[in-house]
Amino acid sequence: MDRFGGTCDLSVSSRKSYGGPMKKAAGPTSRLPVVLIVSAAVIALLIFGIKAIWPRHEGLTPSSKTPAVIVVVDPAHGGSDAGSSSEGALEKAVTLAVASKMASLASEFPGVRIVLTRAADTEMSDEQRIAVASDEAAQLFLAVHVNAFGQPTALGIETLVDSTHKAGDAAWTFADAVQKAVIAATGAKNRGVKAQGSSFSRLTIPAASALVGFVTTPEERAKLSDPAYQESIARGLLRGISDYVAAAGVTPVSATQTIPLDKGQTAKPAGKSP
Ligand SMILES: [Zn+2]
Repeated sequence: MDRFGGTCDLSVSSRKSYGGPMKKAAGPTSRLPVVLIVSAAVIALLIFGIKAIWPRHEGLTPSSKTPAVIVVVDPAHGGSDAGSSSEGALEKAVTLAVASKMASLASEFPGVRIVLTRAADTEMSDEQRIAVASDEAAQLFLAVHVNAFGQPTALGIETLVDSTHKAGDAAWTFADAVQKAVIAATGAKNRGVKAQGSSFSRLTIPAASALVGFVTTPEERAKLSDPAYQESIARGLLRGISDYVAAAGVTPVSATQTIPLDKGQTAKPAGKSP
């Protein structure tokens, strides 16, 4: 603002210096060029002033300009689709809690920008989840699920890739990185990476689903409802994403090309709520 004020003062003084000597000699016909010159000077000074101020506005929001790899994280289920449940623990709530923690912890992983498919207890189709990845020009896609089993003894975390992928391709490598890091962060039993048919076979970007524990096994059910353990899962998944990005050399992009989301079906984690 002070720079802009200075510009205004300069324009006033230049007007004075032009107006002084011209008063005696100038006839009515010679007024017009003077007015034009003064106007041009004022416009030039205004443009200069705006240009001088412009970089300061950009400097106010450096984070939005920082290139990052766009990762869509999908908290599975939601709304009337609770997913697996046991003793009052609902898969849809655990997945949302973990994904929301990933969004809030993402600042610890500066090369990665997390976009959630949902930030509330919202029902979404697989098509809508895929559409978020498409709209956001996502480079990676990670779904978060909770596992269930008939016997209350199954333990551990596993990561799934669509069965159209073969070991060693980008999706498998991504799933491997996520699985390794989330096991390291939680100390959970390592159930490995597995192939399974899924609705995400249409995604051309590396995609995986992390099944972060068994809601049907009492000791894991208790952990899955514990915010501290949810945070360990979230940090492990973020570490896995970050490790894959570094190892595979995924190119960060500018956030300015983001397309706004609509209809309240989806929401961004950072500072936005539906
Ligand atoms: Zn599920």
